[in-house]
Amino acid sequence: MYYMDQDSDFTAVLIISACCRNYSFILGKNGAMHDMFRSLLDLVFPPRCRLCRRMSTETVCTECLEGFPKINGSICRKCGKPCQRSVDGCRDCTGKTLHFSLARSGGSYAGSLKEAIHHLKYKNGKKIAPYLAQFVSDCASDLVDNVSAVAFVPLTGYKEAKRGYNQSRLIAEELSLLYNKPLYRDLVKVRNIPEQNKLGLADRSSNVKGAFRAKTQAPGRMLLVDDVYTTGSTVSECALALKKMGASEVFVLTVARTPLDGR
Ligand SMILES: [Zn+2]
Ligand SMILES: [Zn+2]
Repeated sequence: MYYMDQDSDFTAVLIISACCRNYSFILGKNGAMHDMFRSLLDLVFPPRCRLCRRMSTETVCTECLEGFPKINGSICRKCGKPCQRSVDGCRDCTGKTLHFSLARSGGSYAGSLKEAIHHLKYKNGKKIAPYLAQFVSDCASDLVDNVSAVAFVPLTGYKEAKRGYNQSRLIAEELSLLYNKPLYRDLVKVRNIPEQNKLGLADRSSNVKGAFRAKTQAPGRMLLVDDVYTTGSTVSECALALKKMGASEVFVLTVARTPLDGR
């Protein structure tokens, strides 16, 4: 069992799933008995949407997907922030040193989208990653033709081992398949830093300085993927690391964007 959920029938599913996995070890992973157990399990505990718990064969149901608060309309062309009219720099990014050329986000970090990211990061919701990648893929469709590779914001080795995966990498892997671009895996976090979400906005930029390094040549223009954009400090520092290893330009794509004050 990977984690406990407050929903008791879901917990039961996890326990029985674990039992079935043990049987499948004995019977062979593709054995008929395994399939029978799976069907029985689905019958007793019909599959549900991870977010709203309604019955659904999809990990994220159509209603939840359609309810993601999408960013539409005018944005800042530099950082992607929603604005009343399109501008080349907004109050959040003007005067800041940002090492990426532009950033785009799929939606606001709110409602069902926030919940989906929370499940992906903290509740072993790896199966949600393809849905988030699909959701955000349109936002960079005008950029991808010029992109040589897809990179992702790394975690420290300790944190990735603790979580079991890097959520940004899972999304980037899906996007690299959707865009048919190679995945760049050699951006690493070399310094353990206090978590950005535990710091004030002003401290975030200095906190990440020198925290990332690209280990191998970074080819041409790169698309850098992360889950949430807040101040842009982390992705900017990653972009700098990629540029130091040869990237000519870095575009940033995040699933969501935290609304900041001073809009
Ligand atoms: Zn749902
Ligand atoms: Zn801006």
